[in-house]
Amino acid sequence: MNTLKSKEAFEEAKKYIPGGVNSPVRAFANVGTYPLFIEKANGSKIYDIDGNEYIDYVGSWGPMLLGHAFPPVVEAVRETALSSTSFGAPCIKETKLAECICRMANIDVVRMVNSGTEATMSAIRLARGYTGRKIIIKFEGCYHGHSDSLLIKAGSGALTFGSASSAGVVEELAKYTLVLPYNDFEAIENAFEKFGKDIAAVIIEPIAGNMGVVPPKDGFLLKIQELTRKNKSIFIVDEVMTGFRVSQNGASGLFKISPDIITFGKIIGGGLPVGAYGGKREIMEFISPTGPVYQAGTLSGNPLAMAAGLAQLTYLLDNPQIYTELEEKGSYLENGFKDAASAAGIDICLNRVGSMMSIFFTKERVTDFNTACSSDTEKFKKYFKAMLRCGIYLAPSQFEAVFLSAAHTKNDLDKTIEASFTAMKDLL
Ligand SMILES: *Cc1c(COP(=O)(O)O)cnc(C)c1O
Repeated sequence: MNTLKSKEAFEEAKKYIPGGVNSPVRAFANVGTYPLFIEKANGSKIYDIDGNEYIDYVGSWGPMLLGHAFPPVVEAVRETALSSTSFGAPCIKETKLAECICRMANIDVVRMVNSGTEATMSAIRLARGYTGRKIIIKFEGCYHGHSDSLLIKAGSGALTFGSASSAGVVEELAKYTLVLPYNDFEAIENAFEKFGKDIAAVIIEPIAGNMGVVPPKDGFLLKIQELTRKNKSIFIVDEVMTGFRVSQNGASGLFKISPDIITFGKIIGGGLPVGAYGGKREIMEFISPTGPVYQAGTLSGNPLAMAAGLAQLTYLLDNPQIYTELEEKGSYLENGFKDAASAAGIDICLNRVGSMMSIFFTKERVTDFNTACSSDTEKFKKYFKAMLRCGIYLAPSQFEAVFLSAAHTKNDLDKTIEASFTAMKDLL
């Protein structure tokens, strides 16, 4: 497979863009090669500038649940653009998309922003403003975008405050973020026992997808809900990835929880830059202009983004069978991946919820960040490259998800499984 044009394009990009990319994981540094430059994509297929075709399991990191260039989304964007790309004034599409999200997620009101990062950052500020408290709790291995309070990793001991996971995040701020192990009931109970009345919010990925896919243990989310309610803290569920991927009602619907605030992104924008956060009216009206917590956006509620999101969510509402089909495809692919690994005698732990899954190269059951880190990333690297040579485009990092879309066909899945048999054998 010839990818020389991508190699050259990356060199050219590095002249004008730091690291050649606008989001770090795209640089393929984790898999020790250069990124492919993409020319176009359609349905389940993505094409690089050298003309190679791949079956795409990145799906723009989540948004493309219905596949690339999905006609109703493209049509909505095209039609809307003819009436200008932005007004900076209210438009009806904002209300329609908000109504759609409120119905699907079973929340009262929702505010549109431009990315998942903005959504979680604003949700944290709102929680702090509403409760008048400072401490937030997050879980190790969960990613909630790159705002300062959330770029924090676990400290050295249990129940010690975190430290910045990025240069430029002031340590004083890190002192207000407590980082706990995912799926650890005792840790969250202890944290509330010790700091309960000072905890503004707990934020969690209801199915972790940013340390690879790690589902919550039975009752873990409900336990957090119970503790936050008892202590009058805000329960923030970050559904930027899971929101309307794992069910028509998101992960919150799937696990029957009712968070105070839910954050969204990715799928709700149909591939355009959108985020949102919403929840109980009483809490949400604490943001400006009705409340004292400031939050704004020049391009928030942008008509193109609203049109794309509305087209995608409307389609999901009208076609609930998609979720059954995604589950069937997910299960089929899971079994294929497992067969390929066992045929080669390679130990893997495959975690999956519906259309999101990860293959960890480990004997251990992966239930949190520590066990995720037991995966042999050298093996992953080789596997990734072998799959790419077979025309399968996986996320270029062990700690990301494989995303299926409604556009993946049985033929795509069979080709992928066949490639996996080859790639697993290459690991020996
Ligand atoms: C992708 C993601 C974010 C960040 O969203 P951006 O649009 O990249 O800022 C936040 N939370 C979760 C769970 C995500 O998967």
